[in-house]
Amino acid sequence: MLIRHRLVVRGTVQGVGFRPWIFREATGRGLDGHVGNAGGDVVIEVQGRPDRVADFTEALRSSPPPLALVSGIDISEIPVRVGETGFIVRESEARVDAPVAVPADVATCAACLAEVADPRSRRHRYPFTNCADCGPRYTIIRSLPYDRSATTMAGFAMCADCRAEYEDPADRRFHAEPIACPACGPALMWEADGATEHAAAFDRAIACLLAGGIVAVKGVGGYHLAAVADDELAVQRLRERKARDEKPFAVMVATVEDAVALVDLTASALAEIVSPRRPIVIARRRPESRVADAVAPGSPDLGVLLPYSPLHHLLLDRVRRPLVMTSGNRTDEPIAQTREAARQELADIADGFLHHDRPIEVRCDDSIVRSRAARVQVVRRSRGFAPEPFTLPFSSAATVLAVGAELKSTVAIASGSSVVASHHLGDLEHPAAFIAFEQAIDHLCSLTGFKPEVIAHDLHPEYLSTKWALEKEQPSFGVQHHHAHVASCLVDNGRDEPVIGLALDGLGFGSDGTLWGGEVLLADLSTAQRLAHLRPVPLPGGVAAIREPWRMALVWASIAGGSEAAASLGAELDPQWHAVLSLAASPSTPMTSSAGRLFDAVAALAGGRRTITFEGQAAAELEAAARRWDGGDGYKWEGEGEWVGEVEGVPWVLDPSSLVRDVLASRLAGRSTAAIAQRFHRDLAAGLARAAVSLAQRERVQVVALSGGVFQNLVLTELVAQRIVAAGVEVLLHRHVPANDGGISIGQAAVACAAARVASS
Ligand code: ZN
Ligand code: ZN
Ligand code: FE
Repeated sequence: MLIRHRLVVRGTVQGVGFRPWIFREATGRGLDGHVGNAGGDVVIEVQGRPDRVADFTEALRSSPPPLALVSGIDISEIPVRVGETGFIVRESEARVDAPVAVPADVATCAACLAEVADPRSRRHRYPFTNCADCGPRYTIIRSLPYDRSATTMAGFAMCADCRAEYEDPADRRFHAEPIACPACGPALMWEADGATEHAAAFDRAIACLLAGGIVAVKGVGGYHLAAVADDELAVQRLRERKARDEKPFAVMVATVEDAVALVDLTASALAEIVSPRRPIVIARRRPESRVADAVAPGSPDLGVLLPYSPLHHLLLDRVRRPLVMTSGNRTDEPIAQTREAARQELADIADGFLHHDRPIEVRCDDSIVRSRAARVQVVRRSRGFAPEPFTLPFSSAATVLAVGAELKSTVAIASGSSVVASHHLGDLEHPAAFIAFEQAIDHLCSLTGFKPEVIAHDLHPEYLSTKWALEKEQPSFGVQHHHAHVASCLVDNGRDEPVIGLALDGLGFGSDGTLWGGEVLLADLSTAQRLAHLRPVPLPGGVAAIREPWRMALVWASIAGGSEAAASLGAELDPQWHAVLSLAASPSTPMTSSAGRLFDAVAALAGGRRTITFEGQAAAELEAAARRWDGGDGYKWEGEGEWVGEVEGVPWVLDPSSLVRDVLASRLAGRSTAAIAQRFHRDLAAGLARAAVSLAQRERVQVVALSGGVFQNLVLTELVAQRIVAAGVEVLLHRHVPANDGGISIGQAAVACAAARVASS
């Protein structure tokens, strides 16, 4: 007896070697039928003995191909087709009514690497080798279904050898859409001093790097600027030309052993760095690590990544030294995508260009994860992660486009229960980033086939994303910034229940029109209520107060220590101190409850960081100082967070003045920056945890979610989380959704979808 089943497999199932895997599993069991892509799904029909069909289905459920993320399988019994023999892989059927999952880019697999290294292989040293298990995906896909003709490989006609592999169901490259070889695929080109060269392009790039030069290398998601990382002069030159004073560079090394020689990697960090996503992993730098000081000046950490394309592997193999690989852009602008853009934007920086002719459809920076102890947190979600969907714990009746915040912009689109977030787009104030923002929206809509019915946006009227949303004809849906942060943490953890949301960040527009940033909310995905916040203080000079932490130091010193403390400190901080104090006293100066600005103030007081050259620099240095503290100094504390007091008023105001007073006193007493930083972290964490736990008890909720950019600080995260857990309350932390504004679009989408929640689902 024969049966025939039709299986519709949903999830990330295209571009991940799914159809070849199905073919092998089906033919291995002697089953007949076919498999094909339809819209974003894979549709399989199998016919054979009932036990074998059941066995096949079980294999699909229990051990799908490693890169696939199966979110559901619908099975129906259909009539047997008498006389059908064999199993075939069908061409794709276009269909746009199903939710679609676009695969992320995948690092080169071991089998492809072996071929690249094998002198007998026709792909020996070929920089664009890939197969059904690896290679570019999101960055080359123009539309779905995922077929070669819908990628930027469309312009490359397969040679006979590649065609044979592509059509052979037993081959690793069966339906590997970006399949290529030296005879038919993309090629390298070197460009320097107005001349171009093809044959010796790779060698010229190597020679340039080894001579201490800077090479713009076109990779998977855009151009990198590369320089030998152990050459102090080369790295210094890159810094000067890129006008990047202090922000750390990431370093690419050939092997995981090389990575371990540079940084301490925990088991979880190790798993990330070797994963097919290949993010930059930021971890503690080893004292003996052999990279130039200019790579990450003054930082105890280093960002390290492994090669993720054959070109990177070939470069690292030949250079045999670590390479700085930093985004090919001027600071904070989007990464260069085309040869023209690279030449235009990087001509003053690069000594030469290593181009290739496979177009990049979507520019994608390297993703960044931070690691400390057992914790791994994504802080920039881009190549390798985007556009993998997140699943909401309910279904939405409306299709929502969420346009995110302003800095670290991302956008997201949601329909039903899935949320698809874009790659990292940069800071929207840069015109190029704003163009990338509009392109990302168009691309996400066309890839998913979703037509936005509602546009979710921040409440900040000056964000370009807000203005963009309000100009559209679709109904707009404003989501308060910190509600979006907390919601993004809930989505990250697959939760939807009332929680105490502790949202600490730089500045976000509050529902009362002031600038928030140190918030305790009672929130679920639908609603948020402000239960408590840090004491609001003046933000003298707006943007200047962000760039110049000494201004916040002065403000907090005058609040905590009075005018005398401010006066004695002022002269030390800046000649303009008096003007800034008067500005702070002016009724037209905005007030903020920002935790980020409090960190800035303490960083300036404790460590002397007067001005910053990149966002979050002062706070990052304060965290680094806290980590340096070795328990010496005879400094004691047993603070239980008394500074927050008892729950009082609605909203309850948490006043950290006493902590700042303590910092001022410690400073006068000549305590080390490390000790002051450590103590501030502990006391602040104790108080915040105490407030969160008190409010959780009052509101009868069992969970606290930690979100906002300040929680990229893993020292603070651990101190707060430990105390809350010790009080018997569960803590939700960010994992794959950035805690910073890169996660805002995901939170906005969830909140807007919750408003359009389908009842009883
Ligand atoms: Zn491969
Ligand atoms: Zn070929
Ligand atoms: Fe924020």
